[in-house]
Amino acid sequence: MRITQKTFILLGVIIGVSAINLYLLVVTAQENQAVLHSISDASDLKVIVESISGTANSIASGNEKDRETLSSEISDFDATYAILGTGGTSKGHNVVAVPTELGMIYENLGNSWQQYKQEAEKIKKESVFNPQVVDSLKYILGKNGDLISLANGITNDLSSLDRNYNRHKEIAAEMVSLAKDLGEKTLLVSIGEQGNATEAIKRDRTIFDADLKKLEGLPLDSQELGSYNIKQESLQQIPRANSDSIRQLDPLWEAIKAKLSFIESNPVISKEFGAALASLGNTRSALLDTTSSFVNEWNKLLDSRLNDRVEIVQALLIVDIAVFVLVMLSIRKSLSPLVMMTKTIARIKEGFYGEKIEYSSKDEIGELAQTFNAMSSTIQKKEQEAKKIEIAKDEFLAMITHELKTPLVPIQGYSDILLGEHLGPLNKNQKDRLEVIRSSSATLLQLISDLLDAQKLELGQLRIKQSRNNLRDTIQKTIVSMEPQSVSDQISLVNNVTQDVHVNYDDERIKQVLTNLIKNSLKACSAKIGKVEVSVEENPTEAIVSVRDNGMGIPSDAIDNIFKKFYQVDTSLTREKGGSGLGLSICKGIVEAHGGRIWVETKPNKGSTFSFSIPKTASPHSSI
Ligand code: ADP
Repeated sequence: MRITQKTFILLGVIIGVSAINLYLLVVTAQENQAVLHSISDASDLKVIVESISGTANSIASGNEKDRETLSSEISDFDATYAILGTGGTSKGHNVVAVPTELGMIYENLGNSWQQYKQEAEKIKKESVFNPQVVDSLKYILGKNGDLISLANGITNDLSSLDRNYNRHKEIAAEMVSLAKDLGEKTLLVSIGEQGNATEAIKRDRTIFDADLKKLEGLPLDSQELGSYNIKQESLQQIPRANSDSIRQLDPLWEAIKAKLSFIESNPVISKEFGAALASLGNTRSALLDTTSSFVNEWNKLLDSRLNDRVEIVQALLIVDIAVFVLVMLSIRKSLSPLVMMTKTIARIKEGFYGEKIEYSSKDEIGELAQTFNAMSSTIQKKEQEAKKIEIAKDEFLAMITHELKTPLVPIQGYSDILLGEHLGPLNKNQKDRLEVIRSSSATLLQLISDLLDAQKLELGQLRIKQSRNNLRDTIQKTIVSMEPQSVSDQISLVNNVTQDVHVNYDDERIKQVLTNLIKNSLKACSAKIGKVEVSVEENPTEAIVSVRDNGMGIPSDAIDNIFKKFYQVDTSLTREKGGSGLGLSICKGIVEAHGGRIWVETKPNKGSTFSFSIPKTASPHSSI
């Protein structure tokens, strides 16, 4: 598969999975919001139930206006319950329908509510108080002031009596406090705070009644004697003058006593209302329990659904990462041949043509590798062709130079014979002309010899005949042969070699190198002040021959080129003093054929020192 396709797949998978994840996150967040609102509404049902209960109690306490509140609370529950069943909008936000898993518990909640609602409806309609009880309460409260003042009147009536009436006075004081207490308790009952008030009323009534009878000197009935620790007392009769208040109190008390007995045995709240309130209390806890478990179950369901979503998102992320890693590895594998290609190209740069890249995949890199391999083959073919042409050219040049040299030999030979006057005497003019012929043919011969040597070196055909030689002898012979030229150039040529240096080399070829170096030095030096010195150094591995002059030197930018074929620093000097630009390249070829090196140290106008080394060990080119 192509790298671009792999990359597109990678991007596609990452974008796809990210989009799904994003979608799930957004949808989950929105759904959660709606579900949380729904659960919150479901929790509100509990609050409504509690409110209804509170409102019912408030109505029972006589707050008639709360009947409207109760009605709206019932409607609230109905509306909230209904919207939870269908879903929709409630209090300005979205609400989801109860999930099917919670259908059953939702219905139970509905049933529980219907029972509760039934009782609440009754409370809404039924009147709270028993009208007869209310009348009795009103009567008692209305007459309580009279009761208290008559009880006080008894105390006043008795105050003037002696200590035989102390017990009477105590009873009268007790009656005053009982009358007040009866008033308070009746008031409590009238505002719905029944509690223990009814019991207290009964106690107060019984004791008050017994007290009155004691003061009137009447017997107590069995009911009075059996309760509240009341005892029969035989008290001295109160004088008629002091019993006015008792006589007035008697009928009033009879009327109040009857009313008190009535409210003791009849609840202030109407029977129907009381029954509805009690049923409401009973169904309330069942409804609250159902609502709580409904909310809890919904919360649990939400949690488990959230967990499922989280697991899906996690699984998708893992897939995302796995695909990413796989595609990255595959792209890396596709690109790995680039390293190999770089190495192969570097080898071609070094001259190793025909190198191939091993990569068979059909992607872009595969195509590149194929093109590269084809290019490498083409370069190799062209290189081989160029080499063949080069060899053919060199062979042709070698053949031509050899053929050119052949006719020069008799020209030189006959010039020598004629100049030696072996074929008859010559006049000066003839000798001068023959001299020109001889030196021109010598120059031509030298040039052709150089060309021939250069070609042989190029073709690897230069033969080196190595033998054990003494460098001192070779240098001596060369200097002797060069002396005529140094004398005519007026340049001193000095041989510094005094020691024997025995090394393996081709005597003729090293003489050729030396001759060339000395010739170059003579050309570089000026007449009279010029000096050329030849010396030898030795170290354990090689002998180093140096030719030093005090001539014009070589510019630094030319140093790298002087050992190349046909290179000349100053062509005008060449026209004046001769030369082909081949000498140093031949020297280099000969020295390297001996396994040595050649180099120059020079400074413009200060002179140059050309040195070459001959290794003492047997040369690897000795057989050439
Ligand atoms: P040529 O036959 O022209 O002398 P060479 O290959 O022997 O050719 O030398 C190349 C060039 O190097 C010469 O043309 C000359 O300019 C320069 N050269 C060689 N030897 C010396 C030297 N001793 N001093 C200055 N220049 C030199």
